[in-house]
Amino acid sequence: MITSETITQTRDRIVTGETNARSVAESAVGAAEKLNGSLNAFLEIDRQGAVTRASEVDAQLKNDAAPVLAGVPIAIKDNICVRGLQTSCGSKILGDYHPPYNATVIDRLLAAGAVIIGKTNCDEFAMGSSNENSAFGTVKNPWDTARVPGGSSGGSAAAVAAGIVPVALGSDTGGSVRQPASLCGVVGLKPTYGRNSRYGLVAFASSLDQIGIFARNVSDVATVLGVIAGRDPHDATTADVPVPDYVAALNGEIKGSRIGFPRALFGRGLDADVRASVEGAVQTYRDLGAEIVEVDLPHAKYAIAVYYIIATAEASSNLARFDGVRYGFRAEEAPELRSMYRRTREEGFGPEVKRRIMLGTYVLSAGYYEAYYHKAQQVRTLLKDDFRRAFAVCDAIITPTSPTTAFMIGEKVNDPLAMYLNDIYTVTANLAGIPGLSVPCGLSSAGLPVGFQLLGPYWSEPALLRLGDVYQQARPSSLARPPVYA
Ligand code: GLN
Repeated sequence: MITSETITQTRDRIVTGETNARSVAESAVGAAEKLNGSLNAFLEIDRQGAVTRASEVDAQLKNDAAPVLAGVPIAIKDNICVRGLQTSCGSKILGDYHPPYNATVIDRLLAAGAVIIGKTNCDEFAMGSSNENSAFGTVKNPWDTARVPGGSSGGSAAAVAAGIVPVALGSDTGGSVRQPASLCGVVGLKPTYGRNSRYGLVAFASSLDQIGIFARNVSDVATVLGVIAGRDPHDATTADVPVPDYVAALNGEIKGSRIGFPRALFGRGLDADVRASVEGAVQTYRDLGAEIVEVDLPHAKYAIAVYYIIATAEASSNLARFDGVRYGFRAEEAPELRSMYRRTREEGFGPEVKRRIMLGTYVLSAGYYEAYYHKAQQVRTLLKDDFRRAFAVCDAIITPTSPTTAFMIGEKVNDPLAMYLNDIYTVTANLAGIPGLSVPCGLSSAGLPVGFQLLGPYWSEPALLRLGDVYQQARPSSLARPPVYA
């Protein structure tokens, strides 16, 4: 099966003619079709497009030099625009919206020879931690289909965990790549803010959003990051920072690395199995020769509050454009324009999205702006300072990715606050703009995956990926496969 090898090995087998892109694409599409009834990971499976595209890749290989991702199948979260496919964002309001253009990351993947096999399910407009906010049904976790895969990029995480595709893209505004990666037992990277382009990613909270990567192996994440990273004239927030060779950075070196251990984050609210697993990973790093140093992030305790002010404020503004005029769904039979707007939004948005728009409008409103939004921005700066101080004494910080393993479908739907608390370890990276990598580190006593998170300074992806890869090399058993597998 394709997922037991790295994508570079798959590509090499295609390039040498041992197999071809078409049969690799057919097997990925076949697996997606076969498992979608039980997982609901895909909102659209593009059999015809994938096979046609793979055949083109095969034909090109006869003449041209083979690109890095020649024939590699990939799945894309349904809030990233791919020409010819739907972009629903898991929302009824975008319904069967078909964007007329590709996101920049998609153009770069295609130029590198990748084959897109479909669009993956997600929480509506990427708002959620369980995928239960999708207008098109919950994604099921391949480790236990009674449980959530995490969110919001749960479809991408489940597709990789179940061996349908070796890599997938998601978006991460407060943890939506890292948290589902952790709950599904795969690797997930949120790069530094500005590392890759958001052009063609439907905006949730523009100062926090970043496209991220799922894979089973850290080295596959490194390969794909090298393809999609870099400055894009279509997104002024992309940085003009050179893109290093991320794969070459995986040189196995760990001696002399300093890993920060924020003891206060391993306290109350953390599941005992998760704590034991992540502390096991800390011990592994120590055994491999890293130095573990204690660090303090005194403002991390405010991160959830700050995140749910800033993210909702930005969302309330970004989502104003969905009014029934330009995109997708429009309510029928409205007598005049204002009621058409109102009914379209009333019928088109789900309850969580409405809650966020109301929260965001509230914190931005006259009289509350200073008390909430402005204050939150000030605390955001304090949090950035915490990280700057911590990274003066360490190269990376280790935390759990999520306080619990995958919870039951339905368990937290009536308690939004409990759902929000799930993001406690992940939102800090988005608020500070720094990169975060989630790596699987074994199973809980109930047989559910646990992940640890490595956070690093701006542009430290090479170091984070190196540390993640060192762990995977030392602990190959951490790459276990779920019961639902292609
Ligand atoms: N779970 C977080 C939220 O609901 C993060 C979502 C995300 O990263 N897109 O906002």
